[in-house]
Amino acid sequence: MGQPHSPEAAETAGETRARPRGFVSGVVTLTPEVSNTMRAHAERVFPEECVGALLSDGLTVLPLENAAPNRRSGFLVSARDGLAVERAADARGLEVLGYYHSHPDGPAQPSVSDVANATPGRWLFIVRVVSGVAETPRAFRLDGGACPFIPSGDEPLCAQPFRVTGP
Ligand SMILES: [Zn+2]
Repeated sequence: MGQPHSPEAAETAGETRARPRGFVSGVVTLTPEVSNTMRAHAERVFPEECVGALLSDGLTVLPLENAAPNRRSGFLVSARDGLAVERAADARGLEVLGYYHSHPDGPAQPSVSDVANATPGRWLFIVRVVSGVAETPRAFRLDGGACPFIPSGDEPLCAQPFRVTGP
């Protein structure tokens, strides 16, 4: 609609264009297994925060060690672990879809520091834990860096397809 219709535009548009690294396209389903893996991790380390990665197959969860000085009020991925995650993704021909972490007895929303430290184009999964019981993860992302976090939806994400878009 309203797009220019020249042959050149048609040739260069769409799927053949290379995407910057770190941006993932396609539809990924957060399966019950993935949701349960994140929740179990969050409950295991409660009342500390957990952290881990999810690769772009939507299935590969990589639980990581929380390297923050105070694990009860924050999370940190060590440089070594961050590199290991990138390598694990490369080895599988995948991208890093995003990172998850938990909010022990906190809100199911990104904190100020979550927003400040987020990587545009990657998903941020937050697992709220209430009195040691983890809820279904919620997903957030920065939309091209121009908008604040956009919740993926108010419905539980478990087994619900969601779209990951490029810039
Ligand atoms: Zn957080």
